Amino acid sequence: MDSHGNVLPDDALSGRLVIDLQALSANYRRIAAHVAPVEAGAVVKANAYGLGVERVGPALFEVGCRQFFVAQLQEAPVLRQHLPREAAIYVLNGLMPGGEHYAAANGFVPVLNSLEQLANWTALARSRGERLPAVLQVDTGMSRLGLPADEVRALKSDPTLLEHIELLFVMSHLASADASASRQNGEQLAAMQDAAGLFPGTRICFANSGGVFLGSTYHGALVRPGIALYGGVPTDVAAARMLPVVRLDVRVVQTRTVPARTLVGYSGTHMTSGEAVLATIAAGYADGLPRSLSGRGAAYFDGVRLPMVGRVSMDSITIDASALSPGTLKLGSLVELIGPDQGLEQIASDAGTISYEILTGLGKRYERIYL
Ligand SMILES: *Cc1c(COP(=O)(O)O)cnc(C)c1O
Repeated sequence: MDSHGNVLPDDALSGRLVIDLQALSANYRRIAAHVAPVEAGAVVKANAYGLGVERVGPALFEVGCRQFFVAQLQEAPVLRQHLPREAAIYVLNGLMPGGEHYAAANGFVPVLNSLEQLANWTALARSRGERLPAVLQVDTGMSRLGLPADEVRALKSDPTLLEHIELLFVMSHLASADASASRQNGEQLAAMQDAAGLFPGTRICFANSGGVFLGSTYHGALVRPGIALYGGVPTDVAAARMLPVVRLDVRVVQTRTVPARTLVGYSGTHMTSGEAVLATIAAGYADGLPRSLSGRGAAYFDGVRLPMVGRVSMDSITIDASALSPGTLKLGSLVELIGPDQGLEQIASDAGTISYEILTGLGKRYERIYL
């Protein structure tokens, strides 16, 4: 509503993003049942993969999730506003220098990825005269985050380094969990078990969505799926098929009939081969439909594939609607970009990317409906 009381009708918005919280909850339950009695947490970083942490967080809590992972410290207080105190919030990237006091004061648990992060957290614990909780990440072969082997050995040879730490989990991250046959999975599992052996009695947190479906040896004491909750396909294992959570429809803003040999879009990269009905839809790369969909992606209407023609623009895309009977698409008609005819994985692969990047890029210009 504006300051004069005028309401902007939802139908006047450029598109409609439907987020099915029931499907999200069902996906969580399914993973929790698959790994039971091991506990299932949830990764809700990047605004719950773009779907809205203020709705996703409480929905997951409701179905029993108590362990939540964000990536950056600043995501933790946003999540906390929407979760009861009994939900634990972990910060996967750990803390930048100076973030320790804030994290401790709010009960956010850092993942310590280096001896330096450990030293900073320890310094605060010492100054407060108490032990502070943490997760320790070891690098088992991804070379991204976590203590490398020599730092793990240093830690082992000097137990005073962990004196002020309440070690909740030893953790690592799988680099190839999406490919169940990858040798890297077994290698990382062996490295994880070796590292865990150095901290007897400490619980293991290892599996992401893909890892959940690699078998129970990967489950440790707590799994932390992300993409599978949101309806992405995390791996080639058939059991990993989840319910779709997202549906995206975009409105037609203009249609036209053009003759053969008409150029379409920036740089005229497409030329019509015959007379064609074109429809321009009101979303583009600024709405998370990557420019790499140009000439490759499609929209659907009533089950009919309508190919994108020419370049994807910032705020619009032109599709060829010649396959529909004339006049079917009108100003304001909705066409499907993600839904029953074209899954998230399909549009991601047409764009040459992965479902994670599509979800986290969906943007703020659509009407959002939570079921
Ligand atoms: C993002 C992330 C996850 C979740 O991975 P999915 O493939 O989405 O299940 C788990 N652990 C870490 C460390 C991550 O960065």
